[in-house]
Amino acid sequence: MLVSAKEMLIKAKEGHYAVGQFNINNLEWTKAILLTAQEMNSPVILGVSEGAGKYMCGYKTIVGMVEGMIEGLGITVPVALHLDHGSYEGALKCIEAGFSSVMFDGSHYPIEENIEKTKELVRITGEKGISLEAEVGSIGGEEDGVIGAGECADPDECKMIADLGVTMLAAGIGNIHGKYPANWAGLSFETLDAIQQKTGAMPLVLHGGTGIPAEMIKKAIDLGVSKINVNTECQLAFAAATREYIEAGKDLSGKGFDPRKLLAPGTEAIKATVREKIELFGSANKA
Ligand SMILES: [Zn+2]
Repeated sequence: MLVSAKEMLIKAKEGHYAVGQFNINNLEWTKAILLTAQEMNSPVILGVSEGAGKYMCGYKTIVGMVEGMIEGLGITVPVALHLDHGSYEGALKCIEAGFSSVMFDGSHYPIEENIEKTKELVRITGEKGISLEAEVGSIGGEEDGVIGAGECADPDECKMIADLGVTMLAAGIGNIHGKYPANWAGLSFETLDAIQQKTGAMPLVLHGGTGIPAEMIKKAIDLGVSKINVNTECQLAFAAATREYIEAGKDLSGKGFDPRKLLAPGTEAIKATVREKIELFGSANKA
């Protein structure tokens, strides 16, 4: 059964660790993440962007796949199915389809409009026991085609949104989506500290977890980050392992073209990435 991300994130914040949100793209991705979380006895959040939602033939298909897999694979750790960077309309569709968590990314609206729409979703998700993530200050890099410059959120705006009753809050602290450029300035711990002081117990979310050095991740967790989003790193690992398989000519030998063989190294590579992140975030044995 899918659960809201609320309880797992409150426990994470209190216990000074973070729960990973790993974005899914297909069956292999989902299976790799669920099996690894189970092996490590860790809570987990499966992230779905609106683009990935379309790719996987709609939110209902995804709910069916994930719920079926939880049952079929005997997954007993807490699993939240979460819309990543949702629009207002997208969030409503996911709630309707059976997601247990949604993000409303109103960061591109003026703060007043972000507040109005977030308030409405606090009411709707509250009635259904679904967790809600809000975002203040856009996160740099590419979010499903939307390019934003890495910026730092205003701690006062963070407090305004947190006070609306959202479950968790994503705030830009110099992090970006995708690969980090060589001249990246690093995370702004000063901003993170100021946000945590204003928002108190609110679990904070760090987007763009790919390629942030381990020491920065640990410091961010110390300063109140309880959910870390990982997407690109699993994609890179999958692509590299698949490339290696094909470049070695394995698809041309025997039945190496069988998709169950062809996609296996990539799936294993995702598992290795997820395992590494769960260890770094400290959520192993916290299920
Ligand atoms: Zn993000």
